[in-house]
Amino acid sequence: MIIATGTASGKSLSYLVPALSAVLDGGTILYLTPTKALAADQLRALNELDLPELRAATFDGDTSFEERAWVRKHANYLLTNPDMLHRTLLPRHANWSAFWRRLRMVVVDECHGYRGVFGSHVAQILRRLRRICTRYGSRPTFVLSSATASEPGTFAMRLTGLQMAEVTTDASPRGATTFALWEPPLTDLRGEGGAPLRRPATAESADLLADLVIADIRTLAFVRSRRAAESVALTTRAKLQDLVVDVGAPKDLPDKVAAYRAGYLAEDRRGLEKAFRSGDLLGLATTNALELGVDVSGLDAVLIAGWPGTRASLWQQAGRAGRAGQDALAVLIARDDPLDTYLVHHPEALFGRPVEAIVLDPDNPYVLGPHLCAAAAEIPLTRDDLETFGPATKEVLAGLVTDGLLRERATGWFWTSRERATDLADIRGAGGAPVQVVEASTGRLLGTVDEPSAHTTVHTGAVYVHQGETYLVVELDLESGVALVEAGATDYTTFARDVTEISVLESLRSHPLGPGELHFGSVEVTRQVVSYLKRRAQSGELLGDEPLDLPPRTLRTRAVWWTLPTSAVVPLAEDGLDLGGAAHAAEHAAIGLLPLFATCDRWDIGGVSTELHPDTGLLTVFVYDGHEGGAGFAERGYARALDWLTATREAIASCECERGCPSCIQSPKCGNGNEPLDKAGALRLLAVLLSADPQET
Ligand SMILES: [Zn+2]
Ligand SMILES: [Zn+2]
Repeated sequence: MIIATGTASGKSLSYLVPALSAVLDGGTILYLTPTKALAADQLRALNELDLPELRAATFDGDTSFEERAWVRKHANYLLTNPDMLHRTLLPRHANWSAFWRRLRMVVVDECHGYRGVFGSHVAQILRRLRRICTRYGSRPTFVLSSATASEPGTFAMRLTGLQMAEVTTDASPRGATTFALWEPPLTDLRGEGGAPLRRPATAESADLLADLVIADIRTLAFVRSRRAAESVALTTRAKLQDLVVDVGAPKDLPDKVAAYRAGYLAEDRRGLEKAFRSGDLLGLATTNALELGVDVSGLDAVLIAGWPGTRASLWQQAGRAGRAGQDALAVLIARDDPLDTYLVHHPEALFGRPVEAIVLDPDNPYVLGPHLCAAAAEIPLTRDDLETFGPATKEVLAGLVTDGLLRERATGWFWTSRERATDLADIRGAGGAPVQVVEASTGRLLGTVDEPSAHTTVHTGAVYVHQGETYLVVELDLESGVALVEAGATDYTTFARDVTEISVLESLRSHPLGPGELHFGSVEVTRQVVSYLKRRAQSGELLGDEPLDLPPRTLRTRAVWWTLPTSAVVPLAEDGLDLGGAAHAAEHAAIGLLPLFATCDRWDIGGVSTELHPDTGLLTVFVYDGHEGGAGFAERGYARALDWLTATREAIASCECERGCPSCIQSPKCGNGNEPLDKAGALRLLAVLLSADPQET
């Protein structure tokens, strides 16, 4: 069963009651969350029930050796995360046999977090869990809890591999919330290619927060980064201080605003929460640290600076506003980005039927392979297991045998290595060992960057920002996986430029779209970072283009692509339209809008556009999953292509800029410095593509 309803609708209660009665009946419960914080929160709530039969315990990376022994022996309500299940509980299943034998229910809380590649890994971990339960003779009920999303039943089935019932009716009482969509104005500031820039969402948030605090309205402002939280709080306080000086407002008015973010000490955070609940604080600027678990609700107003990525997060954040029987206000303030632009011009996309689905792809062979090895190490695989792990299993198993990872015998498949099979799957990683960022003078480890993005973010000469401090990369040593950096302020920023090539390996599905064709299939993407641009920090003025010597990286993944025949594009070229720039602009905006239909963000996907692609021989625009083997995003784009590309066109058309700006066709991750781009051309191109009666599959 999956329960997909809004914040504070009583989801926890609906699984807690049957879970507790199972415990009283001698059963055990496995509770999974993506974060330690939520598990700790649940444990507190369970302990407050004060039931002598209930022995709830968390089991995560922080649990000491002694505690682990106690938990294994006594706990009947185990709170843990998919990582622990993968690395410890399943491989050492024999130590936990008493727990598995009595297992009645598996609660998968906040399961909308299991999307993309991470979600695909979790899907395979749950299949391994089901196999272990079968071994010990238990058949637990799976209860999933999620924020609202479209097609929750389909998602739940992909995640667990089981048929799932949907619970989506939310009958919990609440007051009315007025929802405002806010688009900051264009300013005189100029960005890349002279494009006009909008006033930042954080600056508009500070204005609104100050106004609301003056009116004595308890307001939470959600922003996207820790730095933004500090800056919104600081700016708001400064505005209020001006009022104290200018019009004699109460002296303590600025003190009624503070920042709250991850990274603060626990006692400081609790102090802020208490002051906010009591009304000593009226305005709080926060990252999404409050989103999970912590109980701060019943506010008068919520400001959301920038689309939080999914409708699930939006409703979770907006849901903090509204006390029993009282009306509330929520404001979404658009950032300079095509998706935000589209949303503030198309409220029906937010308030109508939900279209965004939680997407994952458990059949990705790069995900499935390591879990088949892990499963074989747990209990040798037999033919009966093939169905559990999905349709791709047979082929992937054959590959694992060829590669010498598994041995096939008459009775099944065996893991015979001394290594830990679970080390093959990096369930939260992006593939490859991360590059360590080390301060050269002190040897201090500042952080890590995942291998795929190291080429673009910590190449030699890059300006690297870490927790607000600026560093310069002295050397990127790929061989040893280290980037050496030195602290130092620069007055310029760097931007890596790359050359991306894409080749079509196989088109798996296709159908006509307007005069063109739409495809979904496998591709190979080759990206090479070739140089980096230096730009003056304030004005964006170009200071230089420095060459880099980095090896190409290849990625085998899934893509959605569309082509237009020569007969359809020749008239456009004759009208003087820049076909390359038009396709490129359409690609950028399409990447920006895909997150509206699949729960990805624009950094999870990439694109390539060309006037003439060697494999198709036609004008082609590709959008691909940025993860080895694919993550389900491109597939979702294919399935919703008509709505997706229509929204893309509307997003470009809604922006009042003349020749393109970050709110429509410019991309912050363009490897080609946002050139060439043709805004009017993109509109014409998409109009042609969407013109004729498009056939649905
Ligand atoms: Zn624009
Ligand atoms: Zn680009």
